[in-house]
Amino acid sequence: MRELLRGLYGAGPVLVAGPCSAESEGQVVKTALALAKLGIKVFRAGLWKPRTHPGGFEGVGAQGLAWLQHVKHETSMLVSTEVATAEHVSQALEAGIDILWIGARTTSNPFAVQQIADALQGHAVPVLVKNPMNPDLELWIGAMQRLAAAGVKHIGAIHRGFTPSTTHEHYRNSPRWDIAIELKQRYPELCILCDPSHMSGRRELVGELSRQALTMGFDGLFIESHCNPEDALSDAAQQLTPAALAQMLEQLHPRHGEETSEELEQLRQRIDECDRELVGLLARRMSIVREIGHYKQRHQVPVVQTSRFNTVLRQAIELARAEGMSEAFITAVMHAIHEEAVRQQI
Ligand code: PEP
Ligand code: MN
Repeated sequence: MRELLRGLYGAGPVLVAGPCSAESEGQVVKTALALAKLGIKVFRAGLWKPRTHPGGFEGVGAQGLAWLQHVKHETSMLVSTEVATAEHVSQALEAGIDILWIGARTTSNPFAVQQIADALQGHAVPVLVKNPMNPDLELWIGAMQRLAAAGVKHIGAIHRGFTPSTTHEHYRNSPRWDIAIELKQRYPELCILCDPSHMSGRRELVGELSRQALTMGFDGLFIESHCNPEDALSDAAQQLTPAALAQMLEQLHPRHGEETSEELEQLRQRIDECDRELVGLLARRMSIVREIGHYKQRHQVPVVQTSRFNTVLRQAIELARAEGMSEAFITAVMHAIHEEAVRQQI
């Protein structure tokens, strides 16, 4: 998938853009013509819309396939749409849709993914797989494995964030970059795009998330753009006009420089040295932990002392904050250290 999409954009980031939903032939074609002028090579538009509540706009369905064919013919862009059932797959393939994607709600359901995979057997169409709604990397990987097992050759991933744990979060979906980063570490060759539109839920935040994604080394962006976002029938708040998208893209400074240089190598050597010291320090800490373990054994003191750990954690948070590190980070580190310390004492 990476060669296929990167091949379209050369050194720059892969850009897939288009409206959340295809609403009318006029809206689809007008948006597509404007996006093609910006150099967008892959158009997106949802025909079958999985909505959280019934009664919302559920997409125009198969009648929109002809509109996408029209876009393809008029602009030479590749066209893509979301499929959620085997029937969607066969209709999309028959209409010559170039790229399919599986939405977050569908990725969450292995039965649905398997039916889609079965319908894709023997076809060469590339498929992008959005992460599931919940932060479950295995479920995301499992969906891609089902497609691979069905013979799908070009598979890519779209990170669109996860259902937030509270309604007070800044973004519509929690970015949880750590999950996408782990996916990249486990499958370095996998093409991973970021969908900052669904992740942010608000058009004014799309630029910042796009910048972060490209800074981290995502292959590209999957963005919602509508010729008249205020009147969009779905996701009105997060869509950008093609003009606003152009402005946003201009402000991005995608990174595609050399991955090594003498300067970088020297900095990496310093990091390696820090890591050696860090592990040495942890080993020293663990040896004291074991001495404490022996003391506790001699004096019948239970291993886990919650109040002591809370004090240790509080001190560490204070020190780390003063050094510009986040509370969440140091908390995770101290919990990991404590877990190992308990393991060494039992
Ligand atoms: C979409 O891309 O229009 C969509 C429905 O997104 P998601 O599956 O990420 O919610
Ligand atoms: Mn949408």
